[in-house]
Formats: sequence, C-alpha cells, structure tokens
Amino acid sequence: MSEPRVEIAAPDISAYRRGSTGIPYVTTFESGRAGPHAVITALVHGNELCGAHALVALFERDVRPCRGRLSLAFVNTEAYARFDPANPKLTRYVDEDFNRVWDPATLDGSRRSAELDRARELRPQIESADVLLDLHSMQLPSAPLLLCGLAAKGRRLAEAIGYPAVVVADAGHRNGARMRDFGAFADPASPAAAMLVECGQHWARSSVAVAIATCGRFVAALDLVAPETLERLGDEPLPESQRMIEVTHAVIVNGGPFRFTADFQGLEVIPKGGTLIGHDGDLPVRTPYDDCVLIMPSRRLGPGLTAVRLGRYVA
Ligand SMILES: [Zn+2]
Repeated sequence: MSEPRVEIAAPDISAYRRGSTGIPYVTTFESGRAGPHAVITALVHGNELCGAHALVALFERDVRPCRGRLSLAFVNTEAYARFDPANPKLTRYVDEDFNRVWDPATLDGSRRSAELDRARELRPQIESADVLLDLHSMQLPSAPLLLCGLAAKGRRLAEAIGYPAVVVADAGHRNGARMRDFGAFADPASPAAAMLVECGQHWARSSVAVAIATCGRFVAALDLVAPETLERLGDEPLPESQRMIEVTHAVIVNGGPFRFTADFQGLEVIPKGGTLIGHDGDLPVRTPYDDCVLIMPSRRLGPGLTAVRLGRYVA
C-alpha cells in the first residue's frame, strides 16, 4: 500500500498565538448581541492540517459573528509545531492522544502530559461553548464524515448543517473521552451540542475545501454571520441529501497482531453478515449483520486501539 502524498503545507499560525482570551491560540469574536457561543477547534491532532487552513481562512476572510460569540481555537499547537512533511504521521500528539483525556476524573486528576496541560487550559472555553465544531481528518482518503453523537440534539444539528453528505451517529470511544463527548455535550438533557467532522485524508488538498465549507455551513446553521460573510467562504455545493450511519460496534484490538483481510478504505458496505474482515491474532473478526458499513478502518492497530467501527445506514 502506498502512503498518501502530502499535498498541502502546514500554515503559519504564529499570528494567532496571542489570541484574545488569555489562552494562547484562542480568539473570541464578540458580536455584542445575544446569541450562542460557537467554538470551532482545529489541530486536536497535530498532523491534521485542513483544520488549521480553515481557521486561517476564517480569520483572513473576516468571518465575524453578527450575533452571539465565535471562538476559533488551534488546539495541540505543541504537536503541530513539530510537524514534518517527511514524517507526517509522527505529530498526531506529543505524549498522548488529546482526544482521549476528556473525562472529568482525568482532567481533575494529578497526572500530567503535554496534552492534559493543554486540555486543562482550554477547558473553560469548551465548557462555555453552546455549540462546538471540531475539525479533523483521516488516515485514508474516505469520503468526509460528520460525527454527531447518538443524542437527538446532535442529529438535529447535523441535519441543520446539511454538509457533508454522510453523517455518523456514534458513541464515544471506550479508551478515553473525546472533547466532543465532554460534559454537557454528552448530556441529552443539555442543549449544548458538539460535532466532529472528518474532512478527508490528512494531507489532501480537497480536505481543506471540505473543512472551510463545513465551517461555513456550521455558522450558517446557527444564523451566526451575515449572508455576505458566508459568500467569502466559497460555494462548495450542498449535497442533495444526507445519509446517516448509526454506529453499532467498535472493533477494539485485543491480543493482536490485528490485520484486515483487504485494503479497506472506509464506507465499504459488506453485504453478508458473518463475512470475515480481519483477524485479531488467531481470532477471526466477522461482520455482525448484513449490509454492515466499515467506518474509518485504522492503520494504527496497537492493543486497545479501535481497528474499525461498524454501523448501518438508517437514512
Ligand atoms: Zn483527528
């Protein structure tokens, strides 16, 4: 299997270090009018460049709220600073995955790491968000996915955003909480809602256009910016309809070594239940039902990591 090419550069974000909030690399624009606090985050994973490009575009194209507040945050800037196009996989994080430390016990505990320090620094911003859009990208060149969680409020927001074409209703990861699943976002009784978008392959140029378009559709769904502002974010066509996949299973690497039976890229639909898709050590891994969809098969297959998630189209 050939490695994906690095088609885009890591943009210079040093101009945004100072920010406006006292937290490095976090800027809040206040409209002075009532409305929600919307937060858009990029670089939760330090090698996922499209989100950084999208935030830079929002700054440079003067995307400012006409009601409520809009915050733009570059997250794992320490990992990002080490990004090397010759070794682009190495800078996902410094010490640990930033997107697995967001349970209160871990955040409130005494353990420290580069990512935990940054999560604690960002926590007040995240806790004050009414709506969050977290920009990510994928190892493999799968179609873009909007991950909306299992609660009805997330599905409604995904529908209002209307982009990209495939929505994934997913539970959190068992090996640690994502920022998107933190606190009020995961509480069905709270109106706070969070989306995570996987824009395409990490280093593909097309992922940048998807990231910018998702930001545009997000602020439009919230009625946060004036129509002429939206025009500055390009005219990526809206899909005619969205389809939704409900995640039913996560295949976690147990003993390992784990290997797939084919070079799956994501969104394959396996017609027959019981089809062999991989092996975890000697144990066969089979699809649990007919028309099973493979979501983001991973090439990081260490023990405890998610090899692939399985789901079915529900709309
Ligand atoms: Zn990511």
